[in-house]
Amino acid sequence: MAWRFALVIEPAASDDPRSDFADTFRVIDPSAPALSVGELSTQRGDGIFESIGVVDGHPQETQAHLERLAHSAEICDLPAPNLEQWREAIRIAAQHAPATGEGVIKLILSRGVEHGPAPTAWVTAAAAADNTAVRERGIRVVTLDRGYGIDTPATAPWLLLGAKTLSYAVNMAAIREAKRRGADDAIFVTSDGFVLEAPTASLILRMDGRFVTPAPNGGILHGTTQLSLFAHLEEQGLPTEYATIPTSALAEADAAWLVSSVRLAAPITAIDGVEVGADAELTASFNRYLLSPRD
Ligand code: PLP
Repeated sequence: MAWRFALVIEPAASDDPRSDFADTFRVIDPSAPALSVGELSTQRGDGIFESIGVVDGHPQETQAHLERLAHSAEICDLPAPNLEQWREAIRIAAQHAPATGEGVIKLILSRGVEHGPAPTAWVTAAAAADNTAVRERGIRVVTLDRGYGIDTPATAPWLLLGAKTLSYAVNMAAIREAKRRGADDAIFVTSDGFVLEAPTASLILRMDGRFVTPAPNGGILHGTTQLSLFAHLEEQGLPTEYATIPTSALAEADAAWLVSSVRLAAPITAIDGVEVGADAELTASFNRYLLSPRD
């Protein structure tokens, strides 16, 4: 990824009432080394992040991303972020994202330097990869066992399953395994047979005319794209539902999508080698909506 902009943030307390945080920001050269070797984000993946889609300079769903950042911080026992400070940083980063076309802003909040005084935080902006082809052509997916049961998030909260942590090595390994199996991407399922999410996206299924997604019960992220798309569907009077979905029910879907902030809606064309019906017109309308300015 060609970084265009990076801003280091000195995190303010969550109740800091300032309306201008300019003096807590430091613009740095995005291609120069910037982190201490003692950084726990790099040593242990100990931190959280958000990836925000940018369309024609407009950061999409800023509030939903900020709320999820705060939720992840809470799960990980990180200091609560000052959302106004992050909002200002996003606004500045957006000015450096591509003015036309698609970009991506990343927010990173790390536990900081080992034995250091405070978390480390930074924001980057870059141009997004061209996802046009995948949105039109679609993706083949395989189901992969995530290695825990549907109840694990409640019984083992230290696994941080509902937080968007920097520890994505497992997610990346799952995508490599999917490719080894001849697919493009994966759908994680629990060991006791329930559908979760993809390594970098939420799953939406169309079943009996309803749009269904796995309930974010602590074991998966609550996707900002899925939330936005459900609101859009509901505005049109179309039924949406959060459900506990058995893996066996995947075969009943007459259309399915992986949705996320930068790739947007990628139609699923096959699950475990079984073809899934495609609805090219609906997919195109999803992506038109997702590419319109959204707050
Ligand atoms: N689930 C996981 C594990 C993700 O990494 C992501 C996005 O990166 C999502 C779901 C989708 O979230 P969003 O729509 O907010 O991008």
